[in-house]
Amino acid sequence: MAKQKVIGVCRLCLKQNVELQDSHIISEFLYKDIYDAKGRFYVFSEHEAHAGRPEQKGLREHLLCWACEQKFGRWEKYVKELLFDRAPKGIDMGDRMEYPGIDYPQFKLFQMSLIWRMGVTSLGRFDNVELGMKHEERLRSMLDRSDPGEAYEYACFMEHVAYTIPEYGSVILPPTRGAKKFQGHPCYRTVLGGIVWCFFMSSHMAQFPKPMVFLSTAGVLPVWKESQSARRFVREATAPIIAQHTSV
Ligand SMILES: [Zn+2]
Repeated sequence: MAKQKVIGVCRLCLKQNVELQDSHIISEFLYKDIYDAKGRFYVFSEHEAHAGRPEQKGLREHLLCWACEQKFGRWEKYVKELLFDRAPKGIDMGDRMEYPGIDYPQFKLFQMSLIWRMGVTSLGRFDNVELGMKHEERLRSMLDRSDPGEAYEYACFMEHVAYTIPEYGSVILPPTRGAKKFQGHPCYRTVLGGIVWCFFMSSHMAQFPKPMVFLSTAGVLPVWKESQSARRFVREATAPIIAQHTSV
């Protein structure tokens, strides 16, 4: 049976009466490990009823017109090829790996598109993400104009948690708002593709004390090695699910 077209307003460019694509909320390549292993993946939620329920396909919603979907797809392709399709050449800095030569606009826009999609979707798994009208509209406008902004604006801190525990590479954790502000700034944490992504939602990031922890406009990407707090965060959120997964 042919799929029915969904006509509506594109959430990104706001064009009306356009055919909406069945967009992934989380980029499909971030599910890859789990698809490969079992053809299904695990999505976790703070909501008890959802915890550990396997999904047979990615979480999607009709959000974007064709042109906007293509635009997001280009940024995704760049990040997928760079970080996930081949081992990128990084410099070991002790507490982090540094990847030079990154295309700042494409990588930064991809990060911003991830948290924006998780913020605007109506899917229940992402209920935790409330960007607020001001940030939601500002992000939308920047993404629509392909404007990555300054390095500190809607910056994302990345920490590799599958470094010592490979199982974390097959964990997908919808974002939760940090219980405590990080250096005074609210952020959302999620686990995707073996990486903890911390998305900062703050209008005062210009005062962030350590901007070097983020991707720089010069194109240097730091990916931090797992800290005790990241390990604890992932372990506590996933322990029951990992046990269920491995006992199947
Ligand atoms: Zn559009």
